[in-house]
Amino acid sequence: MSDSPSYGFDTLQIHAGSRPDPATGARQTPIYQTTAYVFRDADHAAALFNLQEVGYIYSRLTNPTVAVLQERIATLEGGVGAVGCSSGHAAQIMALFPLMRPGDNIIASTRLYGGTVTQFSQTIKRFGWSATFVDFDDAAAIEAAADENTKAIFCESICNPGGYVTDLASIATVANKLDVPLIVDNTSATPYLCRPFDHGAHLVVHSTTKYLTGNGTVTGGVVVDSGNFDWTKAGKHPSLIEPEPAYHGLKFHETFGPMAFTFHGIAIGLRDLGMTMSPNTAFQTLLGMETLSLRMERHVENAMKVAAWLEKDPRVDYVTYAGLPSSPYADRVKKHYPKGAGALFTFAVKGGYEACVKLVDNVEIFSHVANLGDTRSLIIHSASTTHRQLTPEQQEAAGAAPNVVRLSIGIEDADDLIKDLDQALAAATS
Ligand SMILES: *Cc1c(COP(=O)(O)O)cnc(C)c1O
Repeated sequence: MSDSPSYGFDTLQIHAGSRPDPATGARQTPIYQTTAYVFRDADHAAALFNLQEVGYIYSRLTNPTVAVLQERIATLEGGVGAVGCSSGHAAQIMALFPLMRPGDNIIASTRLYGGTVTQFSQTIKRFGWSATFVDFDDAAAIEAAADENTKAIFCESICNPGGYVTDLASIATVANKLDVPLIVDNTSATPYLCRPFDHGAHLVVHSTTKYLTGNGTVTGGVVVDSGNFDWTKAGKHPSLIEPEPAYHGLKFHETFGPMAFTFHGIAIGLRDLGMTMSPNTAFQTLLGMETLSLRMERHVENAMKVAAWLEKDPRVDYVTYAGLPSSPYADRVKKHYPKGAGALFTFAVKGGYEACVKLVDNVEIFSHVANLGDTRSLIIHSASTTHRQLTPEQQEAAGAAPNVVRLSIGIEDADDLIKDLDQALAAATS
Protein backbone atom coordinates (compact mmCIF):
# COMPACT_ATOMS: atom_id res chain seq x y z
CA MET A 1 0.00 0.00 0.00
CA SER A 2 1.04 3.61 -0.33
CA ASP A 3 1.88 5.09 3.06
CA SER A 4 -0.82 7.71 2.84
CA PRO A 5 -0.85 9.88 5.95
CA SER A 6 -4.64 9.70 5.79
CA TYR A 7 -4.57 6.12 7.06
CA GLY A 8 -5.15 5.73 10.77
CA PHE A 9 -2.57 4.68 13.34
CA ASP A 10 -3.87 1.10 13.63
CA THR A 11 -3.55 0.63 9.87
CA LEU A 12 -0.11 2.21 9.62
CA GLN A 13 1.36 0.23 12.54
CA ILE A 14 0.73 -2.92 10.48
CA HIS A 15 1.34 -1.72 6.92
CA ALA A 16 3.61 1.33 6.78
CA GLY A 17 6.88 0.60 4.99
CA SER A 18 6.05 -2.97 4.04
CA ARG A 19 4.93 -4.42 0.74
CA PRO A 20 4.75 -8.01 -0.48
CA ASP A 21 8.28 -9.25 -1.20
CA PRO A 22 8.90 -8.50 -4.91
CA ALA A 23 10.74 -11.78 -5.47
CA THR A 24 8.38 -14.23 -3.73
CA GLY A 25 5.19 -12.40 -2.77
CA ALA A 26 5.90 -13.18 0.89
CA ARG A 27 3.32 -11.20 2.87
CA GLN A 28 5.26 -10.87 6.12
CA THR A 29 8.49 -8.87 5.86
CA PRO A 30 11.34 -11.34 5.22
CA ILE A 31 14.50 -11.28 7.32
CA TYR A 32 17.12 -10.30 4.74
CA GLN A 33 19.92 -12.10 6.50
CA THR A 34 22.71 -10.90 4.25
CA THR A 35 25.79 -8.78 4.71
CA ALA A 36 26.27 -7.65 1.10
CA TYR A 37 24.27 -6.99 -2.09
CA VAL A 38 25.35 -7.79 -5.66
CA PHE A 39 25.93 -4.69 -7.82
CA ARG A 40 24.27 -4.66 -11.25
CA ASP A 41 27.58 -3.52 -12.80
CA ALA A 42 30.58 -1.32 -12.03
CA ASP A 43 28.71 1.93 -12.82
CA HIS A 44 25.92 0.97 -10.41
CA ALA A 45 28.49 0.26 -7.70
CA ALA A 46 30.22 3.62 -8.26
CA ALA A 47 26.91 5.53 -8.14
CA LEU A 48 25.97 3.86 -4.86
CA PHE A 49 29.32 4.66 -3.27
CA ASN A 50 29.08 8.30 -4.40
CA LEU A 51 25.58 8.60 -2.87
CA GLN A 52 24.29 9.46 -6.37
CA GLU A 53 21.92 6.53 -6.23
CA VAL A 54 20.15 5.06 -3.21
CA GLY A 55 20.46 1.31 -2.82
CA TYR A 56 21.95 -1.51 -0.83
CA ILE A 57 25.73 -1.93 -0.47
CA TYR A 58 26.50 -3.50 2.89
CA SER A 59 24.32 -4.18 5.95
CA ARG A 60 26.34 -1.97 8.29
CA LEU A 61 24.73 0.88 6.31
CA THR A 62 21.38 -0.36 5.05
CA ASN A 63 19.34 -3.56 5.01
CA PRO A 64 15.87 -4.14 3.52
CA THR A 65 14.34 -5.53 6.75
CA VAL A 66 15.72 -2.65 8.79
CA ALA A 67 14.50 -0.25 6.07
CA VAL A 68 10.90 -1.41 6.56
CA LEU A 69 11.15 -0.73 10.30
CA GLN A 70 12.73 2.68 9.68
CA GLU A 71 9.92 3.67 7.35
CA ARG A 72 7.24 2.33 9.70
CA ILE A 73 8.51 4.26 12.72
CA ALA A 74 9.12 7.43 10.67
CA THR A 75 5.52 7.21 9.38
CA LEU A 76 4.00 6.68 12.84
CA GLU A 77 6.03 9.60 14.23
CA GLY A 78 5.16 11.83 11.26
CA GLY A 79 8.84 12.20 10.29
CA VAL A 80 10.63 12.08 6.92
CA GLY A 81 13.21 9.42 7.74
CA ALA A 82 14.68 7.22 10.44
CA VAL A 83 17.91 5.35 11.14
CA GLY A 84 17.86 2.02 12.96
CA CYS A 85 20.56 1.51 15.59
CA SER A 86 21.84 -1.30 17.79
CA SER A 87 20.24 0.08 20.99
CA GLY A 88 18.49 3.10 22.42
CA HIS A 89 21.77 4.40 23.78
CA ALA A 90 23.37 4.00 20.36
CA ALA A 91 20.48 6.03 18.91
CA GLN A 92 21.21 8.85 21.36
CA ILE A 93 24.86 9.05 20.26
CA MET A 94 23.74 8.81 16.62
CA ALA A 95 21.31 11.70 17.17
CA LEU A 96 24.00 13.92 18.68
CA PHE A 97 26.87 12.94 16.38
CA PRO A 98 25.93 15.12 13.36
CA LEU A 99 25.26 18.09 15.65
CA MET A 100 28.33 18.14 17.85
CA ARG A 101 32.00 19.07 17.65
CA PRO A 102 34.50 18.93 20.54
CA GLY A 103 33.66 21.78 22.94
CA ASP A 104 29.93 21.69 22.14
CA ASN A 105 27.20 21.07 24.72
CA ILE A 106 23.56 20.11 25.06
CA ILE A 107 20.94 21.19 27.58
CA ALA A 108 19.22 18.11 29.00
CA SER A 109 16.30 17.57 31.35
CA THR A 110 17.06 16.36 34.87
CA ARG A 111 14.28 13.80 34.41
CA LEU A 112 15.85 11.08 32.27
CA TYR A 113 16.41 7.35 32.14
CA GLY A 114 19.29 6.60 34.55
CA GLY A 115 21.56 5.26 31.81
CA THR A 116 21.05 8.43 29.81
CA VAL A 117 22.10 10.58 32.76
CA THR A 118 25.30 8.53 32.99
CA GLN A 119 25.90 8.69 29.22
CA PHE A 120 25.42 12.46 29.17
CA SER A 121 27.15 13.38 32.44
CA GLN A 122 30.16 11.05 32.03
CA THR A 123 30.77 9.26 28.76
CA ILE A 124 30.14 11.98 26.18
CA LYS A 125 32.87 14.06 27.84
CA ARG A 126 35.35 11.73 26.14
CA PHE A 127 34.17 13.10 22.79
CA GLY A 128 34.70 16.63 24.12
CA TRP A 129 30.93 17.11 24.49
CA SER A 130 29.07 18.03 27.67
CA ALA A 131 25.54 18.28 29.03
CA THR A 132 23.97 20.80 31.39
CA PHE A 133 20.99 19.40 33.32
CA VAL A 134 18.06 21.71 33.94
CA ASP A 135 14.52 21.42 35.35
CA PHE A 136 12.41 21.46 32.17
CA ASP A 137 9.42 22.96 33.99
CA ASP A 138 11.46 26.16 33.95
CA ALA A 139 11.78 27.22 30.30
CA ALA A 140 13.68 30.39 31.27
CA ALA A 141 16.32 28.27 33.01
CA ILE A 142 16.91 26.31 29.80
CA GLU A 143 17.54 29.52 27.92
CA ALA A 144 19.78 30.83 30.68
CA ALA A 145 21.87 27.63 30.63
CA ALA A 146 22.54 27.85 26.88
CA ASP A 147 25.61 29.45 25.34
CA GLU A 148 27.06 29.81 21.82
CA ASN A 149 28.29 26.19 21.93
CA THR A 150 24.85 24.74 22.74
CA LYS A 151 23.84 22.50 19.83
CA ALA A 152 20.72 20.67 21.02
CA ILE A 153 18.08 20.33 23.73
CA PHE A 154 17.22 16.84 24.98
CA CYS A 155 14.31 15.52 27.04
CA GLU A 156 11.88 12.61 27.35
CA SER A 157 8.17 13.05 26.60
CA ILE A 158 6.68 10.76 29.26
CA CYS A 159 9.60 10.40 31.61
CA ASN A 160 11.35 7.47 33.13
CA PRO A 161 10.96 6.50 35.98
CA GLY A 162 7.52 8.05 35.75
CA GLY A 163 5.30 10.66 37.31
CA TYR A 164 6.32 13.45 34.98
CA VAL A 165 5.31 14.47 31.49
CA THR A 166 7.05 17.23 29.56
CA ASP A 167 5.29 20.24 28.05
CA LEU A 168 7.03 19.72 24.72
CA ALA A 169 5.51 22.76 23.00
CA SER A 170 7.03 25.16 25.52
CA ILE A 171 10.45 23.47 25.22
CA ALA A 172 10.22 23.58 21.41
CA THR A 173 9.66 27.34 21.62
CA VAL A 174 12.94 27.69 23.54
CA ALA A 175 14.74 25.46 21.02
CA ASN A 176 13.52 27.61 18.13
CA LYS A 177 14.64 30.76 19.91
CA LEU A 178 18.11 29.26 20.39
CA ASP A 179 18.18 27.89 16.80
CA VAL A 180 18.98 24.36 18.00
CA PRO A 181 16.95 21.17 17.50
CA LEU A 182 14.81 19.70 20.27
CA ILE A 183 15.52 15.96 20.56
CA VAL A 184 12.82 13.96 22.34
CA ASP A 185 13.31 10.45 23.70
CA ASN A 186 9.82 9.09 23.02
CA THR A 187 10.49 5.58 24.35
CA SER A 188 8.04 5.57 27.26
CA ALA A 189 5.22 7.27 25.37
CA THR A 190 5.57 5.64 21.93
CA PRO A 191 4.04 7.50 18.96
CA TYR A 192 0.66 6.10 20.06
CA LEU A 193 0.53 8.28 23.19
CA CYS A 194 2.62 11.19 21.92
CA ARG A 195 3.98 12.44 18.60
CA PRO A 196 6.65 14.97 19.61
CA PHE A 197 6.81 16.46 16.07
CA ASP A 198 3.19 17.60 16.48
CA HIS A 199 4.41 19.67 19.45
CA GLY A 200 7.33 21.24 17.56
CA ALA A 201 10.17 18.80 18.33
CA HIS A 202 12.75 18.30 15.56
CA LEU A 203 14.25 14.86 16.25
CA VAL A 204 12.99 11.79 18.09
CA VAL A 205 14.96 8.89 19.53
CA HIS A 206 13.60 5.55 20.69
CA SER A 207 14.82 2.56 22.55
CA THR A 208 12.88 0.06 20.40
CA THR A 209 13.89 -2.47 23.07
CA LYS A 210 10.86 -1.33 25.05
CA TYR A 211 7.23 -0.82 23.98
CA LEU A 212 7.82 -0.82 20.22
CA THR A 213 9.06 -4.41 20.31
CA GLY A 214 6.96 -4.95 23.39
CA ASN A 215 8.00 -8.39 24.55
CA GLY A 216 11.52 -8.03 25.89
CA THR A 217 13.31 -9.98 23.15
CA VAL A 218 15.70 -7.65 21.32
CA THR A 219 17.77 -4.51 21.91
CA GLY A 220 17.45 -1.73 19.38
CA GLY A 221 17.04 1.98 18.81
CA VAL A 222 16.05 4.47 16.18
CA VAL A 223 16.62 8.15 15.38
CA VAL A 224 13.72 9.84 13.57
CA ASP A 225 13.99 13.17 11.74
CA SER A 226 11.00 15.49 11.33
CA GLY A 227 12.75 17.13 8.35
CA ASN A 228 11.63 20.51 9.70
CA PHE A 229 14.80 21.90 11.26
CA ASP A 230 16.45 24.47 8.99
CA TRP A 231 20.17 23.62 9.29
CA THR A 232 21.18 26.63 7.18
CA LYS A 233 19.29 29.31 9.16
CA ALA A 234 21.78 29.80 11.99
CA GLY A 235 24.43 27.48 10.53
CA LYS A 236 25.30 26.03 13.92
CA HIS A 237 25.79 22.45 12.69
CA PRO A 238 28.65 22.41 10.17
CA SER A 239 28.56 18.63 9.53
CA LEU A 240 25.20 19.02 7.81
CA ILE A 241 25.98 22.10 5.70
CA GLU A 242 29.71 22.20 5.00
CA PRO A 243 31.54 20.07 2.38
CA GLU A 244 32.09 16.49 3.58
CA PRO A 245 35.68 15.45 2.76
CA ALA A 246 34.82 11.73 2.89
CA TYR A 247 32.34 12.20 -0.01
CA HIS A 248 34.37 14.48 -2.34
CA GLY A 249 33.03 17.65 -0.73
CA LEU A 250 29.34 16.69 -0.89
CA LYS A 251 27.14 18.99 1.25
CA PHE A 252 24.42 17.00 3.00
CA HIS A 253 21.86 19.79 3.35
CA GLU A 254 22.35 21.05 -0.20
CA THR A 255 22.15 17.54 -1.68
CA PHE A 256 19.46 15.88 0.43
CA GLY A 257 17.33 18.79 1.71
CA PRO A 258 14.97 17.60 4.47
CA MET A 259 16.60 14.13 4.34
CA ALA A 260 20.06 15.57 5.20
CA PHE A 261 20.07 14.37 8.79
CA THR A 262 18.91 10.84 7.89
CA PHE A 263 21.44 10.49 5.04
CA HIS A 264 24.21 11.78 7.29
CA GLY A 265 23.16 9.22 9.91
CA ILE A 266 23.58 6.38 7.43
CA ALA A 267 26.44 7.60 5.25
CA ILE A 268 28.65 8.89 8.08
CA GLY A 269 27.13 7.68 11.37
CA LEU A 270 26.50 4.03 10.60
CA ARG A 271 29.41 3.82 8.18
CA ASP A 272 31.99 4.99 10.73
CA LEU A 273 30.45 4.32 14.16
CA GLY A 274 28.86 1.02 13.12
CA MET A 275 26.05 0.96 15.73
CA THR A 276 23.81 -0.87 13.28
CA MET A 277 20.50 -2.63 13.94
CA SER A 278 20.47 -6.28 12.87
CA PRO A 279 17.80 -7.53 10.43
CA ASN A 280 16.67 -10.08 13.02
CA THR A 281 16.08 -7.31 15.55
CA ALA A 282 14.16 -5.24 13.00
CA PHE A 283 11.96 -8.27 12.24
CA GLN A 284 11.15 -8.86 15.94
CA THR A 285 10.32 -5.18 16.38
CA LEU A 286 8.13 -5.12 13.27
CA LEU A 287 6.13 -8.04 14.70
CA GLY A 288 5.74 -6.25 18.01
CA MET A 289 4.66 -2.98 16.43
CA GLU A 290 1.69 -4.60 14.69
CA THR A 291 -0.12 -4.56 18.07
CA LEU A 292 1.35 -1.35 19.52
CA SER A 293 -1.89 0.61 19.92
CA LEU A 294 -3.75 -2.36 21.44
CA ARG A 295 -1.00 -2.97 23.95
CA MET A 296 -0.58 0.70 24.87
CA GLU A 297 -4.31 1.04 25.55
CA ARG A 298 -4.18 -1.91 27.95
CA HIS A 299 -0.89 -0.74 29.52
CA VAL A 300 -2.49 2.63 30.31
CA GLU A 301 -5.76 1.11 31.55
CA ASN A 302 -3.91 -1.27 33.89
CA ALA A 303 -1.52 1.44 35.11
CA MET A 304 -4.51 3.62 36.08
CA LYS A 305 -6.09 0.77 38.06
CA VAL A 306 -2.91 -0.28 39.86
CA ALA A 307 -1.81 3.31 40.63
CA ALA A 308 -5.27 4.21 41.99
CA TRP A 309 -5.23 1.11 44.23
CA LEU A 310 -1.72 1.82 45.54
CA GLU A 311 -2.54 5.46 46.23
CA LYS A 312 -5.24 4.38 48.71
CA ASP A 313 -3.07 1.75 50.45
CA PRO A 314 -1.87 2.71 53.95
CA ARG A 315 1.48 0.91 53.40
CA VAL A 316 2.28 3.33 50.58
CA ASP A 317 3.54 6.88 51.16
CA TYR A 318 2.82 8.27 47.71
CA VAL A 319 2.37 7.28 44.07
CA THR A 320 3.83 9.39 41.27
CA TYR A 321 1.73 8.49 38.27
CA ALA A 322 1.03 11.46 36.02
CA GLY A 323 -2.23 9.75 34.97
CA LEU A 324 -3.76 10.08 38.46
CA PRO A 325 -6.15 12.99 39.03
CA SER A 326 -4.03 13.86 42.11
CA SER A 327 -0.87 14.36 39.99
CA PRO A 328 0.44 17.92 39.69
CA TYR A 329 0.70 17.13 35.96
CA ALA A 330 -2.93 15.99 35.54
CA ASP A 331 -3.88 19.07 33.48
CA ARG A 332 -0.81 18.73 31.29
CA VAL A 333 -1.66 15.07 30.65
CA LYS A 334 -5.23 15.98 29.68
CA LYS A 335 -4.04 18.64 27.26
CA HIS A 336 -0.94 17.09 25.70
CA TYR A 337 -1.26 13.34 26.34
CA PRO A 338 -5.00 12.70 25.93
CA LYS A 339 -4.59 8.95 25.40
CA GLY A 340 -2.86 8.54 28.74
CA ALA A 341 0.33 9.03 30.71
CA GLY A 342 1.93 5.67 29.91
CA ALA A 343 2.45 2.73 32.21
CA LEU A 344 5.54 3.60 34.19
CA PHE A 345 5.43 5.02 37.66
CA THR A 346 7.03 4.89 41.05
CA PHE A 347 5.66 4.59 44.52
CA ALA A 348 7.21 5.12 47.92
CA VAL A 349 6.96 2.32 50.46
CA LYS A 350 6.68 3.05 54.17
CA GLY A 351 9.73 1.33 55.63
CA GLY A 352 12.20 2.79 53.12
CA TYR A 353 15.10 1.01 51.44
CA GLU A 354 14.73 -2.24 53.44
CA ALA A 355 11.02 -2.59 52.69
CA CYS A 356 11.64 -1.91 48.99
CA VAL A 357 14.23 -4.67 48.79
CA LYS A 358 11.82 -7.11 50.52
CA LEU A 359 9.04 -6.06 48.19
CA VAL A 360 10.99 -6.89 45.03
CA ASP A 361 12.02 -10.22 46.59
CA ASN A 362 8.39 -11.19 47.25
CA VAL A 363 6.53 -10.43 44.04
CA GLU A 364 5.29 -13.39 41.99
CA ILE A 365 3.78 -12.07 38.73
CA PHE A 366 5.97 -8.97 38.56
CA SER A 367 9.51 -9.71 37.40
CA HIS A 368 12.42 -8.03 39.14
CA VAL A 369 14.35 -6.84 36.09
CA ALA A 370 16.13 -3.79 34.69
CA ASN A 371 13.77 -3.27 31.79
CA LEU A 372 10.49 -1.58 30.95
CA GLY A 373 7.83 -1.67 28.28
CA ASP A 374 7.32 -5.43 28.28
CA THR A 375 3.94 -7.19 27.97
CA ARG A 376 4.67 -8.60 31.44
CA SER A 377 4.72 -6.40 34.51
CA LEU A 378 8.13 -5.46 35.83
CA ILE A 379 9.42 -4.03 39.08
CA ILE A 380 12.73 -2.54 40.08
CA HIS A 381 14.22 -0.74 43.03
CA SER A 382 16.03 1.96 41.06
CA ALA A 383 18.26 3.25 43.88
CA SER A 384 19.99 -0.14 44.25
CA THR A 385 20.12 -0.93 40.50
CA THR A 386 19.54 1.33 37.45
CA HIS A 387 20.17 4.59 39.31
CA ARG A 388 22.96 3.18 41.52
CA GLN A 389 25.70 5.15 39.68
CA LEU A 390 23.99 8.47 40.37
CA THR A 391 24.64 10.76 43.32
CA PRO A 392 21.88 10.95 45.97
CA GLU A 393 20.90 14.37 44.56
CA GLN A 394 20.68 12.95 41.02
CA GLN A 395 18.63 9.98 42.35
CA GLU A 396 16.21 12.33 44.05
CA ALA A 397 15.94 14.54 40.95
CA ALA A 398 15.34 11.49 38.76
CA GLY A 399 12.54 10.22 41.04
CA ALA A 400 14.63 7.26 42.21
CA ALA A 401 14.99 7.93 45.93
CA PRO A 402 15.91 4.96 48.21
CA ASN A 403 12.30 4.44 49.44
CA VAL A 404 10.90 4.28 45.90
CA VAL A 405 10.23 1.35 43.56
CA ARG A 406 9.39 1.64 39.87
CA LEU A 407 6.70 -0.37 38.14
CA SER A 408 6.31 -1.01 34.44
CA ILE A 409 2.73 -2.20 34.22
CA GLY A 410 2.10 -4.99 31.71
CA ILE A 411 -1.01 -6.18 29.95
CA GLU A 412 -2.00 -9.00 32.33
CA ASP A 413 -5.27 -8.89 34.34
CA ALA A 414 -5.12 -5.78 36.51
CA ASP A 415 -6.78 -7.65 39.40
CA ASP A 416 -3.96 -10.20 39.42
CA LEU A 417 -1.34 -7.45 39.47
CA ILE A 418 -3.06 -5.78 42.43
CA LYS A 419 -3.27 -9.10 44.32
CA ASP A 420 0.43 -9.69 43.72
CA LEU A 421 1.43 -6.25 45.02
CA ASP A 422 -0.91 -6.69 48.00
CA GLN A 423 0.77 -9.91 49.15
CA ALA A 424 4.30 -8.57 48.44
CA LEU A 425 3.58 -5.37 50.37
CA ALA A 426 2.31 -7.48 53.27
CA ALA A 427 5.58 -9.42 53.30
CA ALA A 428 7.66 -6.25 52.93
CA THR A 429 6.05 -4.26 55.73
CA SER A 430 5.26 -6.99 58.27
C1 LIG B 1 15.92 1.79 27.84
C2 LIG B 1 15.92 3.22 27.58
C3 LIG B 1 17.00 3.83 26.93
C4 LIG B 1 18.22 3.05 26.48
O1 LIG B 1 17.86 2.12 25.52
P1 LIG B 1 18.65 0.73 25.29
O2 LIG B 1 17.91 0.09 24.18
O3 LIG B 1 18.58 -0.03 26.57
O4 LIG B 1 20.05 1.13 24.94
C5 LIG B 1 16.93 5.19 26.70
N1 LIG B 1 15.87 5.91 27.10
C6 LIG B 1 14.82 5.36 27.72
C7 LIG B 1 13.67 6.21 28.14
C8 LIG B 1 14.81 4.00 27.99
O5 LIG B 1 13.76 3.45 28.61
